[in-house]
Amino acid sequence: MDDKIKPHQSQTAGLGTRVVWGGEQVQHPYNATQTPIVVSAAYGYHDIDEWYDVALGKEPGFIYSRMSNPTVSVLEDKLCELESAESAVAFSTGMAAISGVLHTFLSYGQRVVSTRDSYGGTNKIFEEFLPRMGVEVALCDTLDTESIEHEIAKGCNVLYLETPTNPTLKVLDIRRLVAAAKRVGALVIADNTFATPLNQNPLALGVDVVVHSATKFLSGHGDVLGGVVCGSEHLMSQVRHYREINGASLDPFSAYLIIRGIKTLALRLRQQQVSAQALAEYLCTEPLVESVNYPGLPQHRGHTIARSQMRGFGAIVSFVLVGGMDTVTRLLPLLKYAHRAGNLGAVETIYGPARTTSHVENTLEEREALGISEGLVRVSVGIEDTADLLADLKQAFELVRSKQNHSSLHAGNTERFTEVGT
Ligand SMILES: *Cc1c(COP(=O)(O)O)cnc(C)c1O
Repeated sequence: MDDKIKPHQSQTAGLGTRVVWGGEQVQHPYNATQTPIVVSAAYGYHDIDEWYDVALGKEPGFIYSRMSNPTVSVLEDKLCELESAESAVAFSTGMAAISGVLHTFLSYGQRVVSTRDSYGGTNKIFEEFLPRMGVEVALCDTLDTESIEHEIAKGCNVLYLETPTNPTLKVLDIRRLVAAAKRVGALVIADNTFATPLNQNPLALGVDVVVHSATKFLSGHGDVLGGVVCGSEHLMSQVRHYREINGASLDPFSAYLIIRGIKTLALRLRQQQVSAQALAEYLCTEPLVESVNYPGLPQHRGHTIARSQMRGFGAIVSFVLVGGMDTVTRLLPLLKYAHRAGNLGAVETIYGPARTTSHVENTLEEREALGISEGLVRVSVGIEDTADLLADLKQAFELVRSKQNHSSLHAGNTERFTEVGT
């Protein structure tokens, strides 16, 4: 077994058990069964020697909450158990985690290879911020594995992956790209937000560092922001040091909400995936839909790779509407069980076009260059009953179609009248 994978107490338990008990075997004050929200900024000591030992890391304990906090620690331990990681570091947001990791492991004159359709914010770090600090960035066509391998072979310090991608659900072959990175000694970082640790464990596939936006499926209720990074203690001590100094630490109340959310992750995802598969299959039959992206569809380009590296296909489906933004504007308001919002991974179903969700940071030209059409809608499937979600989507499409027929009939009539008139 790899040295970055530490067998934990509950490692032999299933993931549905680990989401509940992982990191929770701590004796809390008053014998509380739930993790307390410890809001103290600092921790006091009578014994000055003990204070010194804790400060120097010789003894376990806490000094100041920007560095570590008892509530945040439980969350970090839980993530270690879910990703089978030695260590984890929590951040105030997913972007803080991604930015923190990239800044920890890249410096002036170095080179990073990644793909064009990573999360919009991540893409901005690659395009705008890293070049400014003298890091060379090579972004490859996500589906062209050979070109990614080619760029890696030219030499790089970091390979950054995200799979499945947001919002087009492209699947990258993690094992194959890790092998290419190892040949040039590059560190591999993977964003596992879409898959969640229940569906995919990148560390077990050879990745060095895993990042999560805990805002999404981990917390699961759309009411908190957070990010977590996992990996070997050797690597995480560097990430922790970066966070300590740069200060994007997670606050204890948010940590508590994320801990609470994770406990139902397995239950939520089970229901969400059943509905995601059903919605994807229905969308394939809908005449107003040009194409459907869901790795669980056998015809999906990444289906076989997804099967080999994922335990489930996730709860995000995206589709392209015939008629582009015009149809998007008509369809989305007709949905009853849907937030129209720029979030994902919550218990409620959320619909959103890429231009106001994952790629709100990008211009129309940038989205076009990324192959993200204006008619693309992303669905984050919630935990509602599958039948209700299907019926809701069907009635919305029927209404759009009937209005379309009505208006074209109307347009036809006008034409005929005009003919008669002239
Ligand atoms: C949302 C998201 C992020 C950013 O996370 P925040 O918590 O919003 O900062 C990063 N990667 C992916 C894949 C995401 O979906």
